[in-house]
Amino acid sequence: MKKKIALLGSTGSIGSQTLQVIDELKDYFQIKILSGHKNSELLLTQALKYNPEFIILTQKESYNKVKNILTDSSIKILFGIEGIIQALTECEIDLVVTAVSGAIGIKPTLKALELGIDVALANKETIVAAGNLVQQVQAKTGAKIIPVDSEHSAIFQCLEPDKQALDKIILTASGGPFRNYTREKLLEVTPEKALKHPNWNMGKKITIDSATLMNKGLEVIEAHWLFNVSYDNIEVVIHPQSIVHSMVQYIDGSILAHLGLPDMKVPIQYALTYPNRRGNTFPKLDLTNIGSLEFFSPDFNSFPCLKLAYQVGRTGNTMPTVLNAANEVAVELFLQNKISFVEIPLLIEWVLEKHLPVKNYSFEELMEIDMWARTISREYLTLR
Ligand code: NDP
Ligand code: MG
Repeated sequence: MKKKIALLGSTGSIGSQTLQVIDELKDYFQIKILSGHKNSELLLTQALKYNPEFIILTQKESYNKVKNILTDSSIKILFGIEGIIQALTECEIDLVVTAVSGAIGIKPTLKALELGIDVALANKETIVAAGNLVQQVQAKTGAKIIPVDSEHSAIFQCLEPDKQALDKIILTASGGPFRNYTREKLLEVTPEKALKHPNWNMGKKITIDSATLMNKGLEVIEAHWLFNVSYDNIEVVIHPQSIVHSMVQYIDGSILAHLGLPDMKVPIQYALTYPNRRGNTFPKLDLTNIGSLEFFSPDFNSFPCLKLAYQVGRTGNTMPTVLNAANEVAVELFLQNKISFVEIPLLIEWVLEKHLPVKNYSFEELMEIDMWARTISREYLTLR
């Protein structure tokens, strides 16, 4: 029996690579749902190729375009996040791949888990902003999250059943394109420069997050929720080659590491085939070609986003929700040339200072806090 897949964010970098993995392993998977936002052309091409039961567009203009073209098709075309929710409810699905970018992924991810469907999670913003709610729903339905993020996939694969023996998680970070920059040099960083990542080819938002090290900060919080490990037991190590995808250290001093080429198709495939492994034709790592692997401590002063994420993670409650929302707005403003690279952490800190963390919250209250943080973040522009 083929695994029935819902792929949310199929038009993005992770989405397209997920489809490449499925092309490689055609006999094992069937696409039932695809979703995109602006890129109607690509979604249309994908729809014609994979013939899913549902496609959803979350942007009105692109939805209208596709609706007008696919008039005689049996594919059902829905609009918006509500459309995704409807499709997940009506369609028989074995695994939801959440590959949308940003906190917009919270609602569909929670819905999938609520329906008892396992989630292959690329969308780290969801678990950062709503980790508590995610865990509550999982506890009710038993639905699993299989990480797609390469570091968390690595940790997931290195974790032994005896959780008591775990000492710490060591998350590796490439350091991004400005790894060796001083604070002064960081003042000159433009969006064009920040969008050129040395090792990974990714969507714009995560590429900027990698340059500020906020990506690693979000991943620290993601690791905390996925593996129930305290922040004191999560360490970040800069590893410029991006070959060791992360490590797990045990109380006896043993470290288990996961190695591979920097190719997202590998962790995507593992999340799709879990608990099995399948062969593929993707390029394989030859360590003699790499030669040497380096590891350094991160520079928390030049990259304050990482420090902020640890602080916010430790405070918990709704602080990570605010950090995530403020960061999403800050990245957007930076890409529009409205704030500078070094202002990204300043804006986030400025918003965090205004928030009193809330302890017990519903989904609706969480969404209100997310909205509040986005509004305040934009006010930063009027004060400079
Ligand atoms: P992209 O920007 O390439 O893709 C984002 C996807 O989300 C696209 O399909 C896009 O549609 C869709 N989308 C954008 N805005 C909305 C919205 N408002 N509502 C619904 N859908 C929307 O991002 P990536 O693929 O790089 O990243 C996706 C997620 O995976 C992120 O959370 C990221 O942190 C995580 N991740 C990515 C990695 C990578 O290598 N790229 C590695 C590890 C994690 P459209 O293009 O049609 O507008
Ligand atoms: Mg990662």
